[in-house]
Amino acid sequence: MTAPDETPLPAEHRARLAARLDDVLARIDTAAERAGRDGREITVLLATKTRTPAEIAAAVELLQARERRLAVGENRAQEIAKHSHPLLADDGVPRHFIGRLQTNKARDVVAFAETIHSVDREGIADALERRAEMAGVTRQVLVQVNTSGEESKGGFAPTLEALGPIVERLRRSPVLHPVGLMTIGANTADADAVRASLRSLRTLRDALRTEHGAQELVELSMGMSGDLEIAVEEGATIVRVGSAIFGARPA
Ligand SMILES: *Cc1c(COP(=O)(O)O)cnc(C)c1O
Repeated sequence: MTAPDETPLPAEHRARLAARLDDVLARIDTAAERAGRDGREITVLLATKTRTPAEIAAAVELLQARERRLAVGENRAQEIAKHSHPLLADDGVPRHFIGRLQTNKARDVVAFAETIHSVDREGIADALERRAEMAGVTRQVLVQVNTSGEESKGGFAPTLEALGPIVERLRRSPVLHPVGLMTIGANTADADAVRASLRSLRTLRDALRTEHGAQELVELSMGMSGDLEIAVEEGATIVRVGSAIFGARPA
């Protein structure tokens, strides 16, 4: 085996990354201000799929230097291994898993992530719970909600009838702790439709807190490169940003 490449990002590439990142932070702060919020309360989750360890390490350093709340989110189980790279292994940043979950990857995901955003069906909660118990760990989880109704998207239906039972099931778990809801906004240029889908996540979270007593549901994971302002205005506590920071993904 060859030693991992520990070359940091070339200065020019790093400067472009810093410029994009500052632009994203300004977008978050401006939207937060409009909503009477403080942008620094919002966690910037770096969506790292397809990115190299050097790119991820540079983005982590830049966010740390700006004293922002941050997390590193992976959405592909097959890319988990890259996070053990020497440039990333000891960065002290919480790892989250944000992608479609397969039961046969539950062990890897539980080993990797302290927070899992994409509990989108009952069976995956069972698999994560079993693996967390075997590993002797606890994990924070978010319930994914399909707020747009788009068939390509995973998640529970955006109703209290659908969400109540899974939240209650997770609250009874000795090892999984539900902390909030996650959604991927409607995939459309229609800002009103995007806003409606994101707003419904907050409404559902608030209803679960009042009607099911689930006060621990504090997180709203919503907003990506294209819709993060709307998400921040609608109450996002975690925005998941990839291309706006790292540049367009290679096809
Ligand atoms: C890739 C990804 C993101 C980030 O998407 P961008 O549009 O590149 O910001 C957010 N959430 C999930 C679940 C993703 O897979």
